[in-house]
Amino acid sequence: MAELLKGAGAAKALTETLRAEAEALRARGVTPTLAILRVGERDGDLAYERAARKRCEQCGVEARVTALPDGVTREALLQAIGALNGDPSVHGVLPLRPLPFDAEVCAALAPEKDVDGVTPASMAALYAGSDAGFAPCTAEACVTLLRHCGIALAGRRAAVIGRSLVIGKPAAMLLLRENATVTVAHSKTADLPALCREADILIVAAGKEGLVGADCVRPGQVVVDVGIHTAPDGTLRGDVRFDEAEPVVAAITPVPGGVGSVTTAVLCAHVLRAASGG
Ligand code: NAP
Repeated sequence: MAELLKGAGAAKALTETLRAEAEALRARGVTPTLAILRVGERDGDLAYERAARKRCEQCGVEARVTALPDGVTREALLQAIGALNGDPSVHGVLPLRPLPFDAEVCAALAPEKDVDGVTPASMAALYAGSDAGFAPCTAEACVTLLRHCGIALAGRRAAVIGRSLVIGKPAAMLLLRENATVTVAHSKTADLPALCREADILIVAAGKEGLVGADCVRPGQVVVDVGIHTAPDGTLRGDVRFDEAEPVVAAITPVPGGVGSVTTAVLCAHVLRAASGG
């Protein structure tokens, strides 16, 4: 039976540390503040916004929402970003993506407020192995959770399924920074099951429900399932067939209750770092 890598423990430990940091900042007259930028009312965005606001409250971070209507013009969006960039009381901005005109709008965000790593400057810092920018929160949450659970990364073989700029590629860079030996798989990868079985650490961020099953896992592995899918009965499922993988591997994240809960804590950590001057 596998060890369950639950996100709640890591999120709670991080939240307690962050609350103390936020109190210290407030004592110096700084109210750490996150601005969430949302266009329209997509269910997924509203759910993430609720989770982020709840975590901010627990951490002592103020959260504000700039909500713009569907059909917002490019000019109005860029103006909203400009206003957030120029507002000294806002330390971090979380755009709920994809936004309309996504690449252009994200690139307009001030890098020092880019707490979810969406700007070219943040990406360049991550790929250069520098601490100057912020990594995307979900990618960092994978590594934060593994570290919290005492999973060794240095010298181990890691496979990341998915090469998006939001999760797969940054997760690979963060694992590399931890001295893992990293392979990135994608939809054109040949013999994905064999590649997965070679890995000591398997991060699955393909956005395909149940992609990873018994043929992809072996004893001793650690599996992090980043996927989130809502089944017709309303329950949440991952990219990994948990019932097939869990009896085989050494450790696995549940869905829900794995990476997701750590993501919002990492977001608050980034806001506090931005509020402290980076
Ligand atoms: P994405 O942009 O759709 O990227 C998916 C990646 O998976 C792509 O690189 C794609 O390859 C690869 N892929 C798709 N099918 C594959 C297959 N059959 N075999 C191997 N690789 C395959 O998705 P994303 O934004 O990275 O999100 C991934 C998942 O994470 C989604 O389920 C999303 O809901 C979830 N998510 C979770 C959190 C959290 O906090 N837990 C946060 C955000 C997102 P190609 O590049 O070749 O197309």
